[in-house]
Amino acid sequence: MISTAHEANGLKERSRDVWAYMSPSRLNAWLKCPVAFKLRYIDGIRSPTTPSLFLGKAVHAGLECFYRHRQVGMHLEPGDVIQRLDTCWGALLSEDCMTFTSTSDEENLKQQAAGLIQAYLDQLGDEPVPAAVETTLQEPLVDPFTGEDLGIPLLGVVDLIVPGDSSSVVVDFKTSAKSGPPCEKVHEVQLSAYSYLYRATTQQAESGLQIRSLIKTKTPKIECREYPARSESQLRRFFQIVRAYLDDLDRGRFVHRPGFGCTMCEFSDGTCDAA
Ligand code: SF4
Repeated sequence: MISTAHEANGLKERSRDVWAYMSPSRLNAWLKCPVAFKLRYIDGIRSPTTPSLFLGKAVHAGLECFYRHRQVGMHLEPGDVIQRLDTCWGALLSEDCMTFTSTSDEENLKQQAAGLIQAYLDQLGDEPVPAAVETTLQEPLVDPFTGEDLGIPLLGVVDLIVPGDSSSVVVDFKTSAKSGPPCEKVHEVQLSAYSYLYRATTQQAESGLQIRSLIKTKTPKIECREYPARSESQLRRFFQIVRAYLDDLDRGRFVHRPGFGCTMCEFSDGTCDAA
């Protein structure tokens, strides 16, 4: 049976209070545009789930199902995972109130999810049994360079933790429309956040981090980017960002950040101008 992240971790709906916890997605949303962050996370304006976001969720659910079976000694074939995804499709749809304009749109998206899962498992389905799957890590944010407790926990849902050379590798899945250059900066906040959480939880440094991208090309493609354990300067930069974010929350100060990102912003319909 495929379960959702919330069910898998025994979590109820997470708090919408921005002071309840910080997460890499909240931090990244604020970095992109503080006004968009405020509209979404403080004012609670939510846009309907897009087909693209839903596809990512369905693929995540399929991979989670595969790896949870691995943890109990069962090896599912890609067809088994796809069949389980099909069985739970309706539940995933209703969880996100997701609707399609036509049954063929829905069928195409289901086929796309199946193709991505098949390609992923063909390439990476034989790796060692993971140490953790879709696991929620939450730790108090204590600046390692000053020892100051920032008074808010950091929360992250880590897709996969797999055995590495000396320690473990922290893995995140992404679905994307096209291949991207291996630009570490794009993922810096998320990688540093996961590194912090892993170290605070296990008291040891990760042996590396990975972003596994499932690319939605006509023939699905899997790209596995490996990144070294976070350096001191990367973690220092992470805490500078965290402090700037908390300053904005403290002051209730959210500035517009007009630019290229506006072309993809859910609030560019005038909601932004009225904010
Ligand atoms: S349209 Fe641009 S400035 Fe306005 S909220 Fe979105 S990203 Fe920010």
